[in-house]
Amino acid sequence: MIAIDGPAGTGKSSVSRRVAAALGANYIDTGAMYRVATLRALRAGVALDDPEAIDKATEGVRISVTNDAEKQVVLMDDDDVSDEIRRDEVTRAVSAVSAVPAVRARLVQAQRDQAQTGLSVLEGRDIGTVVFPDAELKVYLTATPEARAQRRHEQNIAAGMDSDYQTVLADVIRRDHLDSTRSTSPLRPADDAVQVDTTDLGIEEVIAKLVELARNRIGVEA
Ligand code: C5P
Repeated sequence: MIAIDGPAGTGKSSVSRRVAAALGANYIDTGAMYRVATLRALRAGVALDDPEAIDKATEGVRISVTNDAEKQVVLMDDDDVSDEIRRDEVTRAVSAVSAVPAVRARLVQAQRDQAQTGLSVLEGRDIGTVVFPDAELKVYLTATPEARAQRRHEQNIAAGMDSDYQTVLADVIRRDHLDSTRSTSPLRPADDAVQVDTTDLGIEEVIAKLVELARNRIGVEA
């Protein structure tokens, strides 16, 4: 089990996907699962400050996240929501939904079930602290808020979305604050996590570092 945690915009998703591919491991994007729960709550029209209503609205939703080398397909029940979960509306609401303990309990269970077979790379906020505290390798990726906002801004533009750097930076700072101050499973590095600051590293360097760590720590060949 390899746990990769850290705030938004550290390159975590691209890095995790590529590290999993290099190691022949499963890749599990737990953020996508929280995004589906959030979309379900938004579609149900519940108030985001009503944890009970969020719990009820998201209970029983079937979430499927599959990845191949090219792309990720995310289903909510049988509906393809791969693009919709990346929209601003969902990004703005996700911290509120992911702070609800009942939602977290269900998704953590689903994540543990999915990682049963073979080597898995799980990416999220609480993998090394809560989901798999015994993971063989825990990595915590960091970068300055400005560097993370710049990456998000460039991704938005590349995806053809409107984007304003200052707005993206404000959202990065707001989400960091909400994710790290919530009472259930706050975002923080596990005591035994290897911290990697990606501010001045290219993605290839980060991938190489993690593959090397995996090789040394758990003896997997890449
Ligand atoms: O990684 P991504 O930006 O898609 O995650 C979206 C949100 O889901 C995060 O801002 C956080 O609120 C929540 N999340 C979480 N625990 C995880 C993964 C994501 O609370 N393991």
